[in-house]
Amino acid sequence: MTTRVGSWLGEWSSATRRWVLWGALVALVAALLVTLVWLAGRYEAGVLQDRIERDAVDVASDIRSELMRNTQGLQGLPRFDPLQPENWTLRANAMMRAHRELLRIESRDAALQLQAFADSDLRARVFEPDERSTLRQGVQAACRRARATASHVYAPSEFLLEKGGHGQQLLEMCLPVGGPDDGYLVATYSLGDILTEMVAQPYARAYDVAFSEVDGTRLAFHGVLRSGNRTFSAQHNLELPGYVLVLRLDSWRGTPALFPNFLTAMVVSMAIGLVLVLVFLARDMRRRLRAENELADALAFRKAMEDSLVTGLRARDLQGRTTYVNPAFCQMVGFSAQELLDAGTAVPYWPPEQLDEYQERQQARLLGSQPPREGFESVFVRKDGTRFPVLVIEAPLINAHGVQTGWMTALLDISEQRRIEELSRASRERLQATARLATIGEMASMLSHELNQPLAAIASYATGSLNMLHSQEPLRATPVPASASGAEPQTAAEARLPSAVEEVLDEGLRHIADQAQRAGKIIRSVHDFVRRREREREAVDVQVLLDAIMPLVQLQARQLYVRTVVRVDPQLPPLWCDRTMVEQVLLNLARNAMQAMGDVPEAGRVLELRVRRAPSSERTAHAHGWLEFSIADTGRGITPEVAEKLFTPFFTTKIEGMGLGLSLCRTVVEQHGGFLAHAQNHPRGTVFRFTLPVAPGPDGQGAEA
Ligand code: ADP
Repeated sequence: MTTRVGSWLGEWSSATRRWVLWGALVALVAALLVTLVWLAGRYEAGVLQDRIERDAVDVASDIRSELMRNTQGLQGLPRFDPLQPENWTLRANAMMRAHRELLRIESRDAALQLQAFADSDLRARVFEPDERSTLRQGVQAACRRARATASHVYAPSEFLLEKGGHGQQLLEMCLPVGGPDDGYLVATYSLGDILTEMVAQPYARAYDVAFSEVDGTRLAFHGVLRSGNRTFSAQHNLELPGYVLVLRLDSWRGTPALFPNFLTAMVVSMAIGLVLVLVFLARDMRRRLRAENELADALAFRKAMEDSLVTGLRARDLQGRTTYVNPAFCQMVGFSAQELLDAGTAVPYWPPEQLDEYQERQQARLLGSQPPREGFESVFVRKDGTRFPVLVIEAPLINAHGVQTGWMTALLDISEQRRIEELSRASRERLQATARLATIGEMASMLSHELNQPLAAIASYATGSLNMLHSQEPLRATPVPASASGAEPQTAAEARLPSAVEEVLDEGLRHIADQAQRAGKIIRSVHDFVRRREREREAVDVQVLLDAIMPLVQLQARQLYVRTVVRVDPQLPPLWCDRTMVEQVLLNLARNAMQAMGDVPEAGRVLELRVRRAPSSERTAHAHGWLEFSIADTGRGITPEVAEKLFTPFFTTKIEGMGLGLSLCRTVVEQHGGFLAHAQNHPRGTVFRFTLPVAPGPDGQGAEA
């Protein structure tokens, strides 16, 4: 049975089970309370009933003894003497005065004839004189029995109807006097007065007292009419010689009080106390349960937080023992939490070759040295032996009482960061090298262009001089190449030169012409070399291009507090370009844009890089279409004076500027067939736009992404 109840309880949810248990407890307490009150009530009723029954016995015995005393008093009356009748009468009257319940005393002879009588002068006379000449049957029979037993005998009581409809219940007793030939004393009692006179005051006040026949007929009653709906009754037989009366005591109780007596009140108050304690317990339990739930939630939240952290957390006590590690830390070093906690003060993830240094550092920490706020870098060893760099940030672990109990450490695996830094450093170096190369290339290209003409002029003069030398003609103005600036007609010696000098001159001029031609060739080949890049074209995805430059742009943007926004239209086709040079163009323009925002408040520095398809109307020459790049800034803008010289080589407004960036950009863009232009940005700043061709698709058509 118990197991069955247990299994039912097990199936319920814990909330239902709690409610059912509480319900059962409350029901049991209520049942206990009702039972206790009922039992207390019953106990009290039992006590009252016992008392009334005892009192009934006492009252009956009191009445019996009083009657016996009366009988003895009657026996003490002098024998009636016809010669001195007053003697008897006086004594009889005196006795009746002393005993009010006695109404009349008669002296009768052996034949029961009335000899004398005395009526109580305290009461109205009960019998008319002629009425009592003969005794009623019952009394006569009692007298006969009294004579036979030589003792007093009571006759059955009788109701005497009086004038005016009133009446009273009388009890008569016959007492034989002297020998068989002597007479009798007949005493008449009022039953009502017996109750009034013989029942002691405490009983008379507490109870209604009544006489009744054995069959229940009420004979006499003494008491006050009381109200109430609960009665305790007790009956006791009042056995008198020759007659038995029933004495009945009634006790009326009013509507029973809620707490009829002290015991019940105590039981009830204890039960109420119990209920109150239960209520308080329930409230306390509910509060505790709520607190427990909140605590469980908080713990679960903390655990979820610690588990989802990518930062490793480690706590150590003041002796250096590891007391806590989070999953991220375990993952970082490859040891399980248990392994780390069991290791005690030994630290399995310290590199053996640096053990001394690390231990010294820990010792210093345990002796109270404060760790740097920004943390420090260190190297740990994974379980598999690989080493990795970590950023260690330590802080004292202070408990709720403000006492330091150890050290809390946050650890960040910075190997990925290191790798990215290395990558970006390499790529920056590569780009810088390319930029230098491109700048040198641009300069070389310009120099070659500029030097070509003077070299050509030198070659022409040399050739002219040679011709003149051979024709022995005076040297006249040699035809000068159209653009040979600063070359003026020259004159030579009139006289013919000696042949030895002529030879030397001839050889020298030939060398000059050869070297000038050679220099021209070298310059052309350098020019060709610089222009050769044109051939290094490939299909490049816009995203690949941006991925390559964005880390560098971001780096500079962070230094200059510039916010960068990149917007690339979806599904753009790949470009057909020299990737390194285009990267250079983008970097140049972005760098210029960011440098132009130096005077703007930091919050307003925005660099927007946008890539989209160029509107078809702008450039239609290229078969596969164009992409347009725009780099917009919110900087100081470009004044018309600056705009005029913007693309002039070596024009710069910056102290450390070279003034070659924009001209290189334009060269590169134009080499690709595109165009580079700038415009005013709204509301402020400049926007540089350039176009680049789309790569041909595999079928020779424009590639569509
Ligand atoms: P450098 O950057 O070395 O000065 P550039 O050819 O790249 O050489 O630029 C030439 C000049 O053009 C800069 O000195 C600057 O005054 C101006 N300039 C270039 N880009 C911008 C821009 N986005 N906003 C304002 N001025 C610019």
